[in-house]
Amino acid sequence: MSDLSSGDISNYRALTAEYESYCREQAGKHFMASKFNFKKCQCCGYCCLCYPCMPRPDEISPVAEYLNISVKELIDRYMVVDTADCQTFFLRWAKAGQEDITGARIPPRRTYDRGYCIFFDKDKKTCFIHPVRPDDAKIIKCWDDRQSRDKKLWGMSGWKQTDIYRFIPDFSTNYFRKSKEKPI
Ligand code: SF4
Ligand code: SF4
Repeated sequence: MSDLSSGDISNYRALTAEYESYCREQAGKHFMASKFNFKKCQCCGYCCLCYPCMPRPDEISPVAEYLNISVKELIDRYMVVDTADCQTFFLRWAKAGQEDITGARIPPRRTYDRGYCIFFDKDKKTCFIHPVRPDDAKIIKCWDDRQSRDKKLWGMSGWKQTDIYRFIPDFSTNYFRKSKEKPI
């Protein structure tokens, strides 16, 4: 894995800024509880579009059971491998439009793909796996983000470096950042 050039870094910063701008625009198009002073989720879908929930490792198997498929099938059909630092990798739901890369590591640029979580039903404004949705989805409250600011509660924080091998035994070690390399 090569080091990041300054061009790569500014490119990723630009992508992040562009995505944040997209999310701000989308906030204006969704019936968010916070905008109307509601204290209950209105299932507007904004979270499932811009900040989809992420499961901890122990929350994956119950979803497979709920859908009556194997964990491998769940990963192959609905999940991508992602990372925030190239040291710890985790599985998260793909977004609609990322079906072509389910079961594989998401290329960093495609983290910014537009689209709702693959489990979000846009017509009914519901989650297909609502009874077994991750805790991450339960702590997100747009009208009160005190809990969601606590990173310890995030699904992503529930992953240790070796956990990815529990789900993808042949996950390539080449993806891991060497200590002196910058993350990609
Ligand atoms: S918590 Fe998320 S889905 Fe619920 S109303 Fe707020 S923005 Fe919409
Ligand atoms: S799993 Fe359900 S609650 Fe979580 S982001 Fe997807 S649709 Fe939303």
